[in-house]
Amino acid sequence: MVQAVVGANWGDEGKGKITDMLAENADIIVRFQGGANAGHTIVNNYGKFALHTLPSGVFYDHTTSIIGNGVALNIPILFNEIKSITDKGVPTPKILVSDRAQIVMPYHILFDEYEEERLGKKSFGSTKSGIAPFYSDKYAKIGFQVSELFGEESALRDKIERVILSKNILLDHLYHKPLIDVEETFNTLMEYKKMVEPYVCDVSAYLWNSIKEGKNILLEGQLGSLKDPDHGIYPMVTSSSTLAAYGAIGAGIPPYEIKKIITVVKAYSSAVGAGAFVSEIEGEEADELRRRGGDGGEFGATTGRPRRMGWFDCVATRYGCRIQGTTDVAFTVLDVLGYLDEIPVCVGYEIDGEVTKDFPTTDKLEKAKPVLKTLPGWKEDIRGIKEYDKLPENCRKYIEFIEEQIGFPITMVSNGPKREDIILRKK
Ligand code: GDP
Repeated sequence: MVQAVVGANWGDEGKGKITDMLAENADIIVRFQGGANAGHTIVNNYGKFALHTLPSGVFYDHTTSIIGNGVALNIPILFNEIKSITDKGVPTPKILVSDRAQIVMPYHILFDEYEEERLGKKSFGSTKSGIAPFYSDKYAKIGFQVSELFGEESALRDKIERVILSKNILLDHLYHKPLIDVEETFNTLMEYKKMVEPYVCDVSAYLWNSIKEGKNILLEGQLGSLKDPDHGIYPMVTSSSTLAAYGAIGAGIPPYEIKKIITVVKAYSSAVGAGAFVSEIEGEEADELRRRGGDGGEFGATTGRPRRMGWFDCVATRYGCRIQGTTDVAFTVLDVLGYLDEIPVCVGYEIDGEVTKDFPTTDKLEKAKPVLKTLPGWKEDIRGIKEYDKLPENCRKYIEFIEEQIGFPITMVSNGPKREDIILRKK
């Protein structure tokens, strides 16, 4: 069976922890989109890890970790990530990389930096990992597939020359930066070839056979619904689809095989980068939630930058769950809210004097003001609780209120960063 673990919000919902937990009963975990621009933080017996490219299942020795064709593959980062975990005593993971995945080129990273610099105050708040230039080139049909590393060298060199010609015009005339050298780029790709060679295979065929053999497969999404280029807060989005539906494409499997879509929803809001964030809070209130949030604060796993903070947003989350095709909600980081006397929740958006519960397009979203409802806090540490009925009454009320507002069943409640900090609930 294939299950997807995806985010309903702006990312950082705790997908890594949920995937890591579900991976115990999985055979294969697949990354199907995104790149090394976001990270998952996982805490387990080996320590605390921030993964950017590897799927969250790499810590089990019974799982195969797959980088699907939809991923923006940064080969040196993958290589170093494998090394960083084996250096900490994790057994060498079984990893497969799709021969159809495309490669993040060194110049993608430079173009990302230069463009953000050029845009100045109007920049996207990119992590400068080269993701937007990478996907632009993929769809402009000037990207490099892993398979090309293993073809004719002369054809590869010719293509590099062709692509770099236009890149250099931009570097020279738009960005006024040093030019790229063809030979150097070719040599870099030959280095990448050596790094990636042991892992390359026809991932789609491998997964097809695995599905037929009845293997348990997890698709692990990066970021969340609201960062999807089509359905999110365009243009303040990422450059590949963050939706479970895209899992079929980015892994190369039939869409009808995805039987369960576990959408991860965080008990409060956080976001990175620019863009409208209706339930955002600021000042001391935000600082405290940021400090107490997640596991050791709400700071980017890749960049370390402070995340923007907000109250739970029912409007955005209902939409985020719907667009994912949610079958189950995993409600995470609930333990963090135990310090609050009262917990505001955003239940509607006021736009031009009218209140709506429907998530709007970006132009209207920019004008939206939150309609807040305040729920009583539970003022208790809920970590360590294993059964739903043992949660404080106000905590259960918070969960049930949100479940009703979003309209999808919360079947898992996460009350701590560890694998075992989970409360299962029947639908
Ligand atoms: P992801 O990108 O969706 O995997 O999310 P991140 O890893 O960026 O952020 C989630 C953070 O919250 C990580 O530091 C996790 O260890 C932590 N986390 C996950 N679930 C829980 C939870 O239930 N409680 C607490 N306190 N932390 C959690």
